[in-house]
Amino acid sequence: MLPQPHRHPWMDSEIDAFRDQVRRYIAGELSPHLDEWRRQGYIPRETWAAFGQMGFLLPEMDEAWGGAGASLAYQCVVQDELARAEFPMSAAVHSIASHYILDYGTPEQKARWLPKLTSGELFAGIALTEPGCGSDLQALRTRARRDGDDYVIDGAKTFITSGFTANLLVVAVRTGEAGSRGVSLIVVETENLPGFQVGRRLEKLGQHASDTAELFFEGVRVPADNLLGGTEGTGFAQLMSQLPYERMLIAVPSAAVIERVVELTLEYTQQRKVFGKLLYDLQNTRFKLAECATLAHVVRTFVNDCVQRLVDGELDDTAAYMAKWWAAEQQCKVTDECLQLFGGYGYMVEYPVARFYADARVQRIYGGANEIMKELIARRMSS
Ligand SMILES: Cc1cc2nc3c(=O)[nH]c(=O)nc-3n(C[C@H](O)[C@H](O)[C@H](O)COP(=O)(O)OP(=O)(O)OC[C@H]3O[C@@H](n4cnc5c(N)ncnc54)[C@H](O)[C@@H]3O)c2cc1C
Repeated sequence: MLPQPHRHPWMDSEIDAFRDQVRRYIAGELSPHLDEWRRQGYIPRETWAAFGQMGFLLPEMDEAWGGAGASLAYQCVVQDELARAEFPMSAAVHSIASHYILDYGTPEQKARWLPKLTSGELFAGIALTEPGCGSDLQALRTRARRDGDDYVIDGAKTFITSGFTANLLVVAVRTGEAGSRGVSLIVVETENLPGFQVGRRLEKLGQHASDTAELFFEGVRVPADNLLGGTEGTGFAQLMSQLPYERMLIAVPSAAVIERVVELTLEYTQQRKVFGKLLYDLQNTRFKLAECATLAHVVRTFVNDCVQRLVDGELDDTAAYMAKWWAAEQQCKVTDECLQLFGGYGYMVEYPVARFYADARVQRIYGGANEIMKELIARRMSS
């Protein structure tokens, strides 16, 4: 049993009941299919639509958009429970994409997309990364040219989570000059869209149930009204100001996975015998688990504090960068240490610890590589 972290005000009995509901739904309706989804390489969109019908996809959306008007802590709880049950980041990306529309969309854009995103009729992805640029988004080359009442998009994106399953994408494009001021975000509904093509679904080290795809845009026409917020050149600022929320939706799963892996390892070592005694009774095992449990506790306490600040609208960028890089780093460390205690079984994909280990690695890369997080923290320290 892990020590319970301090309960912040956001952790009230209503959120406990919500967590319980989400956990039961995942265990009963989603987890039984997860192996099949890993094999096929994606989770069907209908699954997320059903999740939306339960009110779990975007509980934080206003009632006007079909949500429950709940605090962002509810979305964090959903991500916490999905991660604990080994689900990939698809639903988190959906929430992040939807928040771009919530925060920057014109009233018409919100009315057009938010209710469908909340219900799951639309499932969203974010297409920023290109073959030639990931960390340095100012270098992006996908271009959107104004032509009458349309934009015409040409370019290529890669590594896009839900690139194959999503039917709405928030796409970063260049509408103007080189550098950050020429960047805009355009919302693209992809179904039966001429010129839009999903390329390869990329084979990954982990997170096999999530489709990560290449996308191609060749003369793709979308109405000019799809320009997010309606003003060209505001895309980079829009991207930057969403980052604290995005980073929390990476840090929360890290905390969940660390706890789950420690629980699994505790169980395993308390029944596995080596040299005539329980693996847990060896001092190395006890010390390793004590270290991992301490990390679980410290990560959770820090992450919970950031969630409180997020709920209060007071989460500063720097704390979110810290939470992202540090929690991801601890996730990789703990999954590695725990895998070691499973011996050969830990290397077998049928054991959850092996899957958690493989799934963890990318947490240090996407959502802003950890080195970028440290660079941004250091910049703030010297300003
Ligand atoms: C599974 C997966 C899912 C993803 N999902 C999405 C998605 O949904 N949408 C999307 O747009 N993108 C997505 N990405 C892309 C991801 O955000 C990028 O891979 C990431 O931003 C890094 O960009 P890059 O791969 O081009 O690496 P590069 O930018 O080439 O960087 C390579 C490495 O160089 C180092 N580095 C780079 N810049 C600096 C610096 N300034 N200082 C110090 N070191 C530095 C870092 O170690 C970095 O890991 C996903 C990636 C993966 C693997």
